[in-house]
Amino acid sequence: MVKIIIDHDKCDGAECGECVDVCPMEVLIIDGDKIAIQNKEECSLCEVCMDVCPQEAVDVKED
Ligand code: SF4
Repeated sequence: MVKIIIDHDKCDGAECGECVDVCPMEVLIIDGDKIAIQNKEECSLCEVCMDVCPQEAVDVKED
C-alpha cells in the first residue's frame, strides 16, 4: 500500500499544480482549487511529485 499525504496548509493547490503535471500515473489531480488524490493504488512510488513540490507539501511513502 502507498500512503500519499498532501499538506494543504503548505500546498498552493491549483495555483501551482507542479505535482499534477509530473505524475506519470495521473494519481494527483486538480479538484477545484486544491490538489486531490485519485486511484492511489496506481502510484508507483517514483517520488517525482515530492521532488518538484516547491513547498515540500507532498509526502509519499510505503504504508
Ligand atoms: S510518487 Fe510518482 S506515481 Fe506516486 S503520486 Fe507521486 S508522482 Fe504520482
